[in-house]
Amino acid sequence: MENICLICGFNELYDPPYDEKGGASDEICPCCGFHFGFDDDDVQDKKVVYEQWRGKWLQNGSQWFSKSRKPNENWNVEQQLNKINNL
Ligand SMILES: [Zn+2]
Repeated sequence: MENICLICGFNELYDPPYDEKGGASDEICPCCGFHFGFDDDDVQDKKVVYEQWRGKWLQNGSQWFSKSRKPNENWNVEQQLNKINNL
């Protein structure tokens, strides 16, 4: 698995969201703020949770969760989301 956020497509996570054994990285995505292993802990269908989170995040204007790791102004949410489709 790549170091790509499954919600927003941010591809500079420190670790993949899940390792080969299915263990969560416990990392918070600096882009969408999703906390792997916490926000998707103990849910029946992770995909549903991801989609809900993505929907809310987009609705709120796709704000960067971590201002210190925000990229330059060329950052494009559409391009980033495309990375999920290519997984
Ligand atoms: Zn994310």
